[in-house]
Amino acid sequence: MIASAEFLSRLADRLGEEHVLTAPADIAPHLVEWRGLFRGSAIAVVRPADTGEVAFVVAACAEAGIAIVAQGGNTGLVGGGVPQGGIVLSLCRLSRIRAIDRLSASITVEAGALLAEVQAAADVEEMLFPLSLPSEGSCTIGGNLATNAGGTGVLAYGNTRDLVLGLEVVLADGRVWNGLSALRKDNAGYDLKHLFVGSEGTLGIITAAVLKLYPKPSSRAVGFAGLSSPHAALTLFDKLKRTVGRDLTAFEFIPRFGLDIVLKHRPGFLRPLTGDHAAYALVEMSTTRAGPEALGGLEKALAASIEDGLVEDAVIGLSETQNANLWALRENLSDVQSLEGGSIKHDVSVPLSRLADFLDTAIAACEAEMPGLRVCAFGHFGDGNIHFNLSQPLGMEKAAFLKHWARFNRIVHDIVHDMGGSIAAEHGIGLIKRDELGLYGDPVGLDLMRRFKLALDPHDLLNPGKIVAMSANPPPAL
Ligand code: FAD
Repeated sequence: MIASAEFLSRLADRLGEEHVLTAPADIAPHLVEWRGLFRGSAIAVVRPADTGEVAFVVAACAEAGIAIVAQGGNTGLVGGGVPQGGIVLSLCRLSRIRAIDRLSASITVEAGALLAEVQAAADVEEMLFPLSLPSEGSCTIGGNLATNAGGTGVLAYGNTRDLVLGLEVVLADGRVWNGLSALRKDNAGYDLKHLFVGSEGTLGIITAAVLKLYPKPSSRAVGFAGLSSPHAALTLFDKLKRTVGRDLTAFEFIPRFGLDIVLKHRPGFLRPLTGDHAAYALVEMSTTRAGPEALGGLEKALAASIEDGLVEDAVIGLSETQNANLWALRENLSDVQSLEGGSIKHDVSVPLSRLADFLDTAIAACEAEMPGLRVCAFGHFGDGNIHFNLSQPLGMEKAAFLKHWARFNRIVHDIVHDMGGSIAAEHGIGLIKRDELGLYGDPVGLDLMRRFKLALDPHDLLNPGKIVAMSANPPPAL
């Protein structure tokens, strides 16, 4: 390994000194993740301007044996972007929208473009880029691709993986793979782009992508339903899928505790229904069809569900402002949990048919384990994903509560695993779930992951230690 001073001056010569940050105050924000659960170290934060400069930096790191952690908006929730030595490679300057093709319904963007900027660029063309996350004002497309982000649009449009047509990736040796294809059909060999989607910076640095666009819905209806249980929510979801069909674009679940803490910490917000209900569903229908009857299906279905006793009460937004207010109840849920003290989080999914049973079983098991625990299980529901979060009992010390994280992992993840679910639904593995993946992952699947890693990054320099731990002894050849 060459001395880091010489290495850094080589980078500065090419990128400019102002883009090779070494002052502790400049590096500090890049060493800690959003929740503050992990803190790392790095010799520098490096900010290349384009793909050529990324390739130069990666090649220089390969030569010097220096590890690289890619960072976009640093909003990841699994510690994947936290460096453990080496450099942070920030994609923030690769933020251009390279092209929009209305006819092919695609957009070509650089990895550092903010998700909100990509949505806005599509909107200008009367198109929709449907990935939607509460963090969209700060997270980047590169980060979304690297984590295969989910969010509220998955029900209708799929995960980030489903929205990508092509990628440009800098490989561990500094070569650039140009896979920036906009084709909808391309069976020419292995579909390499999908290897990099969800790989959390461990297999290559994504520098640009071609993404799918959709016709922009001309109108939407948003409803908020009060329900007796998660089972009633599941039945309502099934009913809406059958009546509203593909126009059902969101079905989010909020427990009573979740709504109560949003209203407690956001005093300006109004309770949407007069009564108190065990569970709530926020549902959205959107359509490109014109005419006042186009959105009638949601109201009709909710009214019929009240009549037959499935829904206890419901409201429909009468304006875009009211729609946004209903959505705000869901969107604020992540933030307000932190105001209730420590929160032990599980981002899990199970087959939809097991979702209500999962909630019953996991809630009972956790409450039995720790009296006073406040379960805040909420989320995308319609795609089988629940954020199964546990707020500390009132009066308990936050640090004392968080010490129980591993114990609750075992309880929750065992139930998820037994039900054929995933311990990592949309946030990824990173550091926080690496050992859990080792426990619950299929052994052959884990072996394949290590082999891919070894083939693409033989010296383990790309985000080392994340997703899978590479053993000192590489796996023997197949
Ligand atoms: P970063 O945090 O910078 O990086 C994440 C990972 O990707 C790291 O491992 C990093 O090394 C790697 N990476 C970043 N850029 C690249 C690149 N160009 N090439 C290769 N690897 C790269 N996530 C959801 O899925 N659904 C949600 O609903 C959701 N809601 C959220 C709400 C809040 C309030 C917050 C703070 C986060 C939320 N997230 C959600 C998590 C987060 O926003 C996503 O994981 C997002 O995709 C991360 O993007 P980023 O640019 O911030 O990536």
